[in-house]
Amino acid sequence: MTETSSEDGRAVRHETEQVVNETAQGIRTLDDGTAWFSGLSLADRQEVLREVGGYVMQAHITAADGCAGVARSGVKPTANPSVMICMDPPRYGFADLPADEHVKAFCVLVSVFAVADARRRETDCKGTCGHAWHHLPAAAERP
Ligand SMILES: [Zn+2]
Repeated sequence: MTETSSEDGRAVRHETEQVVNETAQGIRTLDDGTAWFSGLSLADRQEVLREVGGYVMQAHITAADGCAGVARSGVKPTANPSVMICMDPPRYGFADLPADEHVKAFCVLVSVFAVADARRRETDCKGTCGHAWHHLPAAAERP
């Protein structure tokens, strides 16, 4: 790994955090988030899938969250990423899926994260937390 590629990695991680949280909170549509993801290189897509898989893992999702997320994502329940996230416990390793399943994996992960994160905001956070991503400006306020 060279300096340059690790700096690229950081940039992608930062962008991922922003896009995923905006999409999860409805500031951005899932189509818009998916369009961003589809435009990335293969290596960046794998990095994003690892990163978002980490968010979902940290949100301590249940199998029910996984299935609710799949329903919300519009991805078929029989697709590999859907099957993986609905397992109890969920199976991760989305970055290792074939390249043609990356977009589906992204849709599923973002949707499952949205389900788990919405619950966390209602139960634990209640608008008084210090999570920077729970205080994003609404789309209209952005330049
Ligand atoms: Zn919070």
